[in-house]
Amino acid sequence: MTRPEDAERIADVVSDVVSDVVSDVVSDVVSDASGERLAAARTIGEGAPVLAFDVGGTDIKSALFDADGTALGLRRTPTPVADGDRTGVLIERLGVLAAELRADHPGVVPQAVGLVVPGIVDADAGLGVFASNLGWHDSPLRDLASTKLGLPVAFDHDVRAASWAEHRLGGARAYSNSVVLVIGTGIAGALLVGGEPYTAGGYAGEIGHSPIADGPVCACGARGCLEMVASAGAIARRYREATGITPDGAKDVIARAAAGDRIASEVWNSALDALTLSLAQLTAVVAPEAIVIGGGLSRAGGALFDELRARLAERLSFHRIPELVPAELSGNAGILGAALRARELA
Ligand SMILES: [Zn+2]
Repeated sequence: MTRPEDAERIADVVSDVVSDVVSDVVSDVVSDASGERLAAARTIGEGAPVLAFDVGGTDIKSALFDADGTALGLRRTPTPVADGDRTGVLIERLGVLAAELRADHPGVVPQAVGLVVPGIVDADAGLGVFASNLGWHDSPLRDLASTKLGLPVAFDHDVRAASWAEHRLGGARAYSNSVVLVIGTGIAGALLVGGEPYTAGGYAGEIGHSPIADGPVCACGARGCLEMVASAGAIARRYREATGITPDGAKDVIARAAAGDRIASEVWNSALDALTLSLAQLTAVVAPEAIVIGGGLSRAGGALFDELRARLAERLSFHRIPELVPAELSGNAGILGAALRARELA
């Protein structure tokens, strides 16, 4: 028989464990690696209520979209850490986040889930084929999430979903042939051809890993990938390697270049040249009407867009020069894309 003081002690232990679990989950990530805070999400319009998750290497955005298309409970929480394959801890965490959203909004009953993840994604097969920072290989994420959440799951690549959201709601609305580039720590891309995503089994759109030089060696194993020269991360890294000074991100290097710092100017110019070369090749082969640029580097504004427009015009001749437009949904494009995908199943 349990004595009252034992019962009290057990209750204390249980409540400690519960509050540990809960406090682990409720610790929101206030700002991301580039210091950006979570913005309010644009409405996705009327339709069935859906849950949406945008999983990244360091954080997960989650929300419940109601019948009006408003994001309820939008938040950013850390991606759970595990040695090796993070599939198991991720699926558990999605279950906890979904339960919290449902408990907080009992009147909104989701009919489907949108789940988007980084890496190589086979959306048709529901597989996370490969993601270096999440450790999985051919992980059946769609079916695992569906079993855990008890709902149909729409599954896609994060940047393709983001580009879909930009096409439906944001900067790419006016164009049925566009390329969306997200230039941040790396460079990710997605193609929209004839109004539909062009995926090639998950392998299309890897513009960041298109070779533009003979070096340096990229984390992917290839040499001279665009993102090793021209991503926001690469611009900061290259300036640090050349000077020993750690800049406050790519925007600091751009500011130093504008102020007459010769090395900053060389780094920034070579990044612009590399981006121009990639965009020129894209223009010649795919001929998008627009190239929509988001991510941290897009906040450089005219220093990026005006320079790329001028260099692209100089580099090309008869080609139809694409409009270069800033992404509009920025940090929330991925979760909005996840919600739009979920609506297709609901
Ligand atoms: Zn690469």
